[in-house]
Amino acid sequence: MQDIDALLRSTGAVLEGHFRLASGRHSGIYIEKFRIMENPDATTALCGMIADHYRGQGVTTVVGPAMGGVILAFETARLLGVQNVFAEKDADGGLMFDRGFGFTPGQPVLVVDDVLTTGGSVKQVLSLVQAAGAKVVGVGMLIDRTSGGVDFGVPFYACHNMNIESYAPDDCPLCRQGLPLVVT
Ligand SMILES: [Zn+2]
Repeated sequence: MQDIDALLRSTGAVLEGHFRLASGRHSGIYIEKFRIMENPDATTALCGMIADHYRGQGVTTVVGPAMGGVILAFETARLLGVQNVFAEKDADGGLMFDRGFGFTPGQPVLVVDDVLTTGGSVKQVLSLVQAAGAKVVGVGMLIDRTSGGVDFGVPFYACHNMNIESYAPDDCPLCRQGLPLVVT
């Protein structure tokens, strides 16, 4: 496996500049995850790391939250030779399982997603899966922006850890330098 940082940068997913993140905080780095997922070779390589990490642990289903998680769960499931399902937005902006997807009690499930920032989507998926009685074997992510800062209460694996600084808008060194702000 080649150097993951180099792989990610080669896809154009790691953008440098001055960004306002979804959280409202400012950062000098933004991860555009769809630069990875538009590249099937890069996506397969990274999902392969997640699949290899959890192989042999009895996973029968890989679950991902829309949008990015749909693609990643599919590819990880394909590599493990197991079922793939996804969660999608409901009318209230939360997540739900539709399309006839369901779980049986004790079913061993792997949850995957793209970039870990706050873990909100993954936590929602975990709640839904656990409420259905399935057993979460672990969580797999492409990139952990928090470098281990979120505890899901289940085993966790990320292909790549980054510790990306972010700043409150009124205390941002990039603002003080006068760099134009890009809203993500
Ligand atoms: Zn700023």
